[in-house]
Amino acid sequence: MLVVMQAHATEEQVRAVCEKIDLAGLRAHAIPGAQRTAIGITGNRGEVEIGLEEMPGVAEVIRVTKPYKLVSRDVKQDNTVVRFNNSATIGGPELAIIAGPCAVESREQTFAIAERVHRAGAQFFRGGAYKPRTSPYSFQGLGEEGLRILAQVRERWGLRIVTEAIDNESLELVEEYADVIQIGARNMQNFSLLKRAGRAKKPVLLKRGMAATLEEFLMAAEYVMCEGNYNVILCERGVRTFADHTRNTLDLSVVPAVHRLSHLPIVVDPSHGTGKRNKVTPLSRAAVAVGCDGLIVEVHNDPDRALSDGMQSLYPEQFDELMSEVRQIAAVVRRELPPQLAQNRRALGTPDAPATAAAR
Ligand code: PEP
Ligand code: MN
Repeated sequence: MLVVMQAHATEEQVRAVCEKIDLAGLRAHAIPGAQRTAIGITGNRGEVEIGLEEMPGVAEVIRVTKPYKLVSRDVKQDNTVVRFNNSATIGGPELAIIAGPCAVESREQTFAIAERVHRAGAQFFRGGAYKPRTSPYSFQGLGEEGLRILAQVRERWGLRIVTEAIDNESLELVEEYADVIQIGARNMQNFSLLKRAGRAKKPVLLKRGMAATLEEFLMAAEYVMCEGNYNVILCERGVRTFADHTRNTLDLSVVPAVHRLSHLPIVVDPSHGTGKRNKVTPLSRAAVAVGCDGLIVEVHNDPDRALSDGMQSLYPEQFDELMSEVRQIAAVVRRELPPQLAQNRRALGTPDAPATAAAR
């Protein structure tokens, strides 16, 4: 159910409606919009008949027929913009660029990559301290030591940190150290983890499960939101299909589909989406062209010796090239990209030069 308040409804009127909903044992989610405030109701089974229509300031009470509610554009028409202090956003006009290694392997490796992606203009740094690996014998991540290294990256370069939590225990620590809590594809339907993320005070980047439909993906986001965390960023990272020329099939058509149904931002991961370094830049261009709100890209200073996902990790020079190509596409779709630092332009010797063909 959704309570639509009148455009001129006062804060007290909104509060009174929320209190009435809470008193009925349900949960009220006030969602301010440009025109008016809406109040989503969750926890109900069927109609809520507690006389909300009659309350002052209420315009109408409507049934939300979709299975997801708080995620839906029916409940909130304006795009959600996730805001970080010192001005970075995800979901606004500026594209969010999240770059870094698959895993934090050492301080030296992490710093070398951070230096380069920062220079290239990324606002966010990615890197797993907890890695969900197919094999129990593969590198599992540095754990809290990795989180400490990531916190040093934020300290030194001002990059906001995106890192994965794989269970409730790691989520506690990730929430403490990171700026964005990543929930991986393998955990998209780990409902207890989603609920815990919903109680966290940091934004959540939710990756699409490998075999998840759009509705399942949105329902997973609903789990986070209905616990009170409204800062959810969706991430398309490819799904399993019969195609075997790539690791996964990057489903770019999900971007406009999400934007139609939901107000949440969606970023694209062309690294896991293709599994192959030579396809990351072309698919990044396509992702920006199709209207994504940002990219999450794996970059490594020595990909041949990476402890995970080396084959899909870009060399720093290739990431520079990706940024310059994507910048041109962004202009066409009226999105902005943060500037690369002057230091990088000088290092590349090409101040605002047009893109050259990427190493393919
Ligand atoms: C990752 O981001 O390194 C990762 C493990 O991604 P996914 O959950 O999409 O496989
Ligand atoms: Mn990876």
